[in-house]
Amino acid sequence: MATPLEIRHGLSLRDLNTFGIEAKAAALLRVNGIDDLRAVRADPQLSGMPRLVLGGGSNLLLLADYPGLVLQMTNLGMAVTGEDPYHVIVTAQAGESWHGFVQWTLAQGLPGLENLSLIPGSVGASPIQNIGAYGSELAEYFHSLKAFDCVSGELIVLNKGDCAFGYRDSVFKHALRDRAVILEVSFAFPKRWQPNLRYAELAAELAARGIAQPTARDISDAVVAIRQRKLPDPATVGNAGSFFKNPVVTAAKRDELLIRHPGLVSYAQADGSYKLAAGWLIDQCGWKGKSLGAAGVHEKQALVLVNRGGASGAEILRLANAIRADVLEKYGVTIEPEPVLV
Ligand SMILES: Cc1cc2nc3c(=O)[nH]c(=O)nc-3n(C[C@H](O)[C@H](O)[C@H](O)COP(=O)(O)OP(=O)(O)OC[C@H]3O[C@@H](n4cnc5c(N)ncnc54)[C@H](O)[C@@H]3O)c2cc1C
Repeated sequence: MATPLEIRHGLSLRDLNTFGIEAKAAALLRVNGIDDLRAVRADPQLSGMPRLVLGGGSNLLLLADYPGLVLQMTNLGMAVTGEDPYHVIVTAQAGESWHGFVQWTLAQGLPGLENLSLIPGSVGASPIQNIGAYGSELAEYFHSLKAFDCVSGELIVLNKGDCAFGYRDSVFKHALRDRAVILEVSFAFPKRWQPNLRYAELAAELAARGIAQPTARDISDAVVAIRQRKLPDPATVGNAGSFFKNPVVTAAKRDELLIRHPGLVSYAQADGSYKLAAGWLIDQCGWKGKSLGAAGVHEKQALVLVNRGGASGAEILRLANAIRADVLEKYGVTIEPEPVLV
């Protein structure tokens, strides 16, 4: 007979989200594999509840107590699972820590993910917004994933093309939203590796360290050092990293803005559009270091909203909305939140 599911009721989520926001879950289940998800689906009461899949809680803003079932992914494991003439395939379970996984791959002599070092959160959440940093993004090394389809009850396998990766975007934010629970992710590590030093600040950090031909470990160390200098550690100050995505505008809009704001920071995209630095826009509106109640804008990085102590999700959202309104008024550009509002 199957063991009954260990559902916990009324549990505080404060230590399970990096903003450190107090909110309670009506029910929470630690998910160790597909059997737990099948059991939830088979249970008439649990299957009817709203569901929130939770990894490290580093890309969430909890606006209130959660009235449904939180599925906390805790399945672990990492292994080399295949090979072709050009790649080594590695699979990690959803509950693994992303940074721990990156460090493990480097220790195995598998370079590729070093630019994505120290991004908080879990392996299972990494495809959701196609995590990216320092000139690299997950899609470059993604091979495939396995997920549980809560609607059909089937295990589904998705390849890169199925995931429709974009800038902080994937199919999991659209057609498969609230439907697919990612159980494991596989990555293809190229056997011939090239360092990726496209990001100027990373190249400068390595140059400052006197490293002309960096190994993947050198790059990981440099990324970790830059991130520790620039970003608040959620263990000390509650935050979810960048709170806004960089808005993408047409070339005409960017040209128009440049005339009025010659210091505008923008990056040309392959399709002719431009990505604007949201942090710069927010800074120019005078928000850096400011607070509204217990919600604040980080002193060094205007893109990062912080919990100065005891902030509610609604308070953080109020600050975010005030910033959005100012950016819209001054630049005519809408900036969208990156974390998921729950
Ligand atoms: C200090 C800091 C720095 C950051 N820097 C970066 C950065 O450089 N680049 C970047 O891209 N992001 C960054 N982030 C954001 C965050 O770390 C990533 O988005 C990360 O992938 C979120 O992982 P998580 O496990 O914490 O997801 P959670 O916050 O737990 O969940 C995020 C979303 O994914 C869903 N989800 C989680 N796990 C699964 C699963 N197994 N199956 C289906 N859905 C799931 C959740 O339901 C939710 O909708 C940063 C965050 C912080 C706090």
